Amino acid sequence: MGKNHNTQTGQLTYSGWGRYPKQEASLVEPSSRDEFATCLAMSDPREQKTIARGAGRSYGDSALSEILLSTRYLDNFSSLETSESGHSTLRCAAGLSLAQILETIVPKGLFLPVLPGAKAVTVGGAIASDIHGKNHHIDGSFCDHVDSLRLLLASGEVVDCSRSHHSELFHATCGGIGLTGIVLDASICLTPLSSLAITQSSLIASNLEECMELMEQHLKAKYSVAWIDCLAKGAAKGRSVLYLGEHLPASENNARSKPQALKRRSEINIPFNAPSMLLNRYSMAAFNSSYYALKKSLPATAKIDYDKFFFPLERLRNWNRLYGAKGFLQYQLVLPLATAREGLHAILERVARAGKGSFLSVLKRFGKGNSNLLSFPIEGYTLAMDFKVEDSLFPLLDELDALVLAHGGRLYLTKDARMSAEFFRQTYPEWERFAELKAKCDPDQKFSSLQSRRLGLTR
Ligand SMILES: Cc1cc2nc3c(=O)[nH]c(=O)nc-3n(C[C@H](O)[C@H](O)[C@H](O)COP(=O)(O)OP(=O)(O)OC[C@H]3O[C@@H](n4cnc5c(N)ncnc54)[C@H](O)[C@@H]3O)c2cc1C
Repeated sequence: MGKNHNTQTGQLTYSGWGRYPKQEASLVEPSSRDEFATCLAMSDPREQKTIARGAGRSYGDSALSEILLSTRYLDNFSSLETSESGHSTLRCAAGLSLAQILETIVPKGLFLPVLPGAKAVTVGGAIASDIHGKNHHIDGSFCDHVDSLRLLLASGEVVDCSRSHHSELFHATCGGIGLTGIVLDASICLTPLSSLAITQSSLIASNLEECMELMEQHLKAKYSVAWIDCLAKGAAKGRSVLYLGEHLPASENNARSKPQALKRRSEINIPFNAPSMLLNRYSMAAFNSSYYALKKSLPATAKIDYDKFFFPLERLRNWNRLYGAKGFLQYQLVLPLATAREGLHAILERVARAGKGSFLSVLKRFGKGNSNLLSFPIEGYTLAMDFKVEDSLFPLLDELDALVLAHGGRLYLTKDARMSAEFFRQTYPEWERFAELKAKCDPDQKFSSLQSRRLGLTR
């Protein structure tokens, strides 16, 4: 996570993965539930607000406040149980990363049902953002596989929550961006893993229509994600490479034989901020064109290690420095099925015209959403684009907001650093229920982030 020391205040400056915005804060690292409760009892919300901090892989300001309560030392495994019907459940602390969990469960032939593109993400962060993977159209989001969780409230009380017990608190905490309390631990349902290898098929689509058509045709594929050239114009608008993936059947590869994926892959480090002038419409367009041409020429099917399939960016350590010292924003939107085609055309048109592209623009097909109050997914299409921070970016994003709103969509809170309170309220219909619950469980508003203040959810 990004941090810099300020020698005058003794505080450090923190940011999310996008390195925008930055905030001076005190990081506290309690190592037990009691220490967390003591920290909360000692904090005065009239002076300083507090928010939980996992691995800092959220892009914007959802894990930024004056006091950051790190979950780093909430790192123990409690139990791994398999029922008679063969269902395995893991109970573990919220500060464990998904990588640590995989290291433990993969050799046992088990897997996490939902994985994001970064394995440093913690269980608490995965729950607070109700994250999704490349299989949302089949398996839903992370919290759909969480049976129960223990939540430390601002009062110091610990509450067990599940769909049947304190269910309102459960549905507010899942996707609740850290505002209901500190998730201490959780029970997560695991899935059997047939193999460490994934069969990946790459399908080339010469425009957006083709890509969406292919995604609809392959709805049964376990994993599906498209890289999209967001700078291509005219007939080539939305040209993309759709990656489909399936776990290799056990008969073809033994999951427990040799955990290749657990070996350390060689890494390339980005040692300093790239000069931001290198990132302009020409270099981005050249990159996108070359990537598309390269993928077109490569074999359409490959057997690859799961680590490479799920976490392709992990080899490029600190890749967030590529966007220069001011950082970058990830703009991730979702549009419902009925309006997605038209809306995505309009959005890609506007982005290509502005010439503000990104290396990595990703399109995914979402399945049905769930009943968590602030969860992001709705059935439709989600598009994520990275943009380097510069003054001229913000008016463009305001224009994109208008298009998202007009097409009934919304933005992903865990990637957000600039959406307005008004836009949030217009696009998250359950925000009032969430705010009511927040008022009940945290009346003094101890838990408050830069984001929650901007969105009008806290003071
Ligand atoms: C390269 C990359 C790829 C990604 N790919 C995906 C993807 O495919 N799908 C997806 O959905 N997301 C993706 N993300 C986003 C990431 O999964 C989420 O932002 C996730 O919440 C980050 O977890 P974290 O542990 O780093 O939490 P942080 O960034 O530290 O915090 C995120 C939020 O969780 C809260 N929080 C953290 N721990 C707790 C806790 N114990 N109790 C209560 N609240 C807590 C924080 O207060 C904050 O609101 C990606 C991020 C990166 C950097």
